[in-house]
Amino acid sequence: MFSPVTELKGVGKASAEALQAMDIETVENLIWTFPYRHEDFRLKDIAETPHNERVTVEGRIESEPAVLYLGKNKSRMQLQALVGRHLIKLVFFNQNYLRTKLSPGMIVTVTGKWDRGRQVINVSNITFGPKTDQADFEPVYSLKGKLSQKKFRQFMRQALDDAKADLPETLPESIRKEYKLLDLPDALEGVHFPQDAAHAKQARRRFVYEELLLFQMKIQALRKTRKQQEHGIEIHYDLKKVRQFIQSLPYELTQAQKKVVNEISRDLLIPERMNRLLQGDVGSGKTVVSAIALYSAVTAGFQGALMAPTEILAEQHAASLDEWLRPFGVEVALLSGSIKQKARKELLQRLKQGEVDILIGTHALIQPDVMFQRLGLVITDEQHRFGVEQRRILREKGENPDVLFMTATPIPRTLSITAFGEMDVSIIDEMPAGRKKIETSWVKHEQFGQVLLQMEQELSQGRQAYVICPLIEESDKLDVQNAVDVYQQLITLFNGKYKVGLMHGRLPAQEKDAVMRAYSDGELDVLVSTTVVEVGVNVPNATFMVIYDAERFGLAQLHQLRGRVGRSDFQSYCVLIADPKSEEGKVRMHSMTETNDGFQLAEKDLELRGPGDFFGKKQSGLPEFKMADLVHDYRALETARQDAIQLITSTDFWQDDEYGPLRERLRVSGALDGERID
Ligand code: ADP
Ligand code: MG
Repeated sequence: MFSPVTELKGVGKASAEALQAMDIETVENLIWTFPYRHEDFRLKDIAETPHNERVTVEGRIESEPAVLYLGKNKSRMQLQALVGRHLIKLVFFNQNYLRTKLSPGMIVTVTGKWDRGRQVINVSNITFGPKTDQADFEPVYSLKGKLSQKKFRQFMRQALDDAKADLPETLPESIRKEYKLLDLPDALEGVHFPQDAAHAKQARRRFVYEELLLFQMKIQALRKTRKQQEHGIEIHYDLKKVRQFIQSLPYELTQAQKKVVNEISRDLLIPERMNRLLQGDVGSGKTVVSAIALYSAVTAGFQGALMAPTEILAEQHAASLDEWLRPFGVEVALLSGSIKQKARKELLQRLKQGEVDILIGTHALIQPDVMFQRLGLVITDEQHRFGVEQRRILREKGENPDVLFMTATPIPRTLSITAFGEMDVSIIDEMPAGRKKIETSWVKHEQFGQVLLQMEQELSQGRQAYVICPLIEESDKLDVQNAVDVYQQLITLFNGKYKVGLMHGRLPAQEKDAVMRAYSDGELDVLVSTTVVEVGVNVPNATFMVIYDAERFGLAQLHQLRGRVGRSDFQSYCVLIADPKSEEGKVRMHSMTETNDGFQLAEKDLELRGPGDFFGKKQSGLPEFKMADLVHDYRALETARQDAIQLITSTDFWQDDEYGPLRERLRVSGALDGERID
């Protein structure tokens, strides 16, 4: 198992280099290098093959090959072939050496991607003559250097034969039996040398489960260790006061809000440190939930902090909380970048002495001179906007304070239990009563005139509108509407009838605030803006939104933007102006017009973009899996999670020999020592 791959027969200098470049040093490494796909060499009926699918067919060449040279070592060769009763084209890229070998009348077997519209197969694999008895189903590895698939398979064969006897089985028999999973040698055989597609599928099933089980076990073990090690604080809030506060609100809480308030309250009371993620679609009313939690902490003599990603949002939160809580004698303060020297010093002094009960701000909150007297609860709004490090610093301003993360980005369950598996999750899955569905339409650029009429209709009734543009200024590279242009256009068009404001990220902070405040106070009728308004801003009188070049935005972002309207009981509208070129872009536009449900859109987004892109590349917090795929294997993930919880909490798991190898894998991962898993 641990002998170097260079000892395998047939590994010469070039192969050794290629293997090294792939980080394959030992036989063990080699065995655990999985193919990224399988090539299906079974003959297919071309008429039944969907567009863009790979296909293998037998055909007779009907024309001389024609080669087009496209530059150094680049060429495109094309010829006609009769496949069954269809005359189609075969295209070969950079394989012009085949030219002399192909002539009319020959029979060939080709494999490649089928372009149904153009009736072309983009050939990646050709054998001369009718289909031979070559394997029907072959793995394809992602290889480096001068290593052919064929050679790599020869090495793999040797490696598997050598190692088979002493492969360590991780999954206990009881589990394998329960789910009818292949044992390790058989599964490895099925991955590298499948007898057929079914064998490969069974092999994959086993590894997907194993991988997800181990991953979930790490999370559960970590959770258990954390709960034992970390002593949080008990926040004995004054239930009567909290009830009074809730009754003072201008509306009744929705059932979903009540449910999450209860979940949070329970966490506050118990000595374990709260580590909770609160998910709720845009407009579901998370702010008031945070206010209740913060007030609860205050009634128990603790301070609270609320961190928001933008100044505007921090200000809005501070204003709302102050309005709600001042009557209850709570001191709410805003720490923003624009508070200068003396005022800032004074504020920090009052904070340190415990005179400020609730501090609200942007990442200004995590500066070193910001010190609390008795910080009991930390809340971050739109948590995905903050890095892990920023959240940690804020948390460390108290002694193990309870922590609540809020997010309006609905996260598909598979991702949420993977990326946030160590957290408890609360979900607000209900909108306040009376909300109407935001009517969303998708139009082409030429139809802007009509959109404008529709907008004026709303404005004439005293409502307000947003016009969102992807960029600030003109760029010759990108043909997109820019905010400044649109702003000027609208001013000319309205000619004083309606007031138009401009908002973008490059404005100085004070100007941004001024514009936002003017819009929020109704002094502006239309706000032309880039995506800076995306997060959290609340202007209930705004009922109309136009999004220019909407195809440039992802679904999650479009949904966030749209969430700026529909915040009152007026009917709201969202118009997407887009000419998407890709199929995917069209699907996105259609999805937006079809549903207002953030969770449904999130699932769609995940499906379209894949898990890596879902959170943005940088801090996805998602592990990399060899086999498992978070989009398609969600059922396996759910099962693995249940099993992991059950195993970690059972005594058998910690004692029985059967689970020895699994325990060992867990120990090696560091999860048992409370280390973070990455
Ligand atoms: P988000 O979850 O996106 O942060 P907000 O907290 O900004 O949503 O709430 C959106 C709007 O809904 C606000 O105007 C808020 O006052 C209002 N709201 C919140 N809860 C309720 C409720 N239970 N009934 C009616 N309106 C509510
Ligand atoms: Mg919010």
